[in-house]
Amino acid sequence: MIYLDNSATTRPFDEVISAVTGSLTHNYFNPSSVYGPSVLLQRQIDSGRKQMLRTLGLDSGRIIFTSGATESNNLAIFGVLGAMRKKSKHVVTSIIEHPSVFEPYMQLEENGYKVTRVGVDATGCVSKQELLDALQEDTCLVSIMHVNNETGAVNDIKALSSIVKKHCRQAVFHCDGVQAYGRITPDLSRCDVDLYSISAHKFHGMKGMGALIVKDGIKIAPMMIGGGQENGYRSGTTNAPAIIGMIEAAKICYQSNNSLMNGLQLCKAELYNGLLNIPDAYVNGPDFNEAAPYILNISFEGVRGETLLHSLERHKIYVSTGSACSAKNKKASRALSAMGISGDRALGAVRMSLGAFNDVSQMQRVVEIIDMEVRNLRKYRRI
Ligand code: PMP
Repeated sequence: MIYLDNSATTRPFDEVISAVTGSLTHNYFNPSSVYGPSVLLQRQIDSGRKQMLRTLGLDSGRIIFTSGATESNNLAIFGVLGAMRKKSKHVVTSIIEHPSVFEPYMQLEENGYKVTRVGVDATGCVSKQELLDALQEDTCLVSIMHVNNETGAVNDIKALSSIVKKHCRQAVFHCDGVQAYGRITPDLSRCDVDLYSISAHKFHGMKGMGALIVKDGIKIAPMMIGGGQENGYRSGTTNAPAIIGMIEAAKICYQSNNSLMNGLQLCKAELYNGLLNIPDAYVNGPDFNEAAPYILNISFEGVRGETLLHSLERHKIYVSTGSACSAKNKKASRALSAMGISGDRALGAVRMSLGAFNDVSQMQRVVEIIDMEVRNLRKYRRI
């Protein structure tokens, strides 16, 4: 099979599987207990925490381990607002956010917050001017994603967070970094991002594991209250095996970043050049050099994305029509319509997302099969 749905989830690295299995078989202690093996496990977790912060350029700050980025995003948004003494009611987000950010902002709106949603340009990137125009004197929170999960558009979070801090010093800048971390990992010491959400299963760790990175000085109210784990920020027995697996995945991505990115770039170039040779193929997203080198969203005129997806499935090639979370949701993609892509082209969109286990020969086969399937499907199209 050829797996091209790495933005939905990835195959864990072998080293991650060994680390998790080792933890489950020999090191299954509760790190909160007070005898030797538990204390050692807690130390191992805390040293991994520091290692992960360093992958983001930080020598200090907090990592709160969570059950995934949905929880990290909810904790960032509701946690920051919950901790604010001076209750400001204006918040800003973008129109292309993942539902785990978009929906919390909908709820804020229902609860009386004034929400401004900024749009994107034709390539799917958040508009700096619109962000600037959206800011108010009392804006207290801004959430803008790093890499878009559907189009691969990369937002310039350094510039966007700097605009926010320059005009609203009190505002907290939150970024959903799920589709970036481990590949395009930002140096948070060099930008004004205060909170960064990540998810282990998007960079070859385990599902059900994530983290919220919190810079020094940013106050957060916990959402899970109980035994006081994670320094009181997230109660619940520590998921040590999954944390150890995530630390391992982060280490591998960090240490092999150059070769990982080169591999992804070569694969994407093969797909991009091959598929654009098919007549009437359109890329939905930024040009090759601007987009993340592991996401390609493309439409073939006259071919429905869903139909192509199932034709490819017969060849054991797995792609997606949008984000996995909305794959069963038949509504038009918010990200594509924000870019002005609608109608047949939006319905035709297929997303291919690459990971560390893909190679160029797989891409050559995918191009061959898509070329054949698109020709076949176009024979039956209604004019
Ligand atoms: N944000 C983005 C951009 C995502 O792509 C996803 C996963 N589809 C999430 C958040 C949610 O992550 P998780 O599966 O860890 O809850």
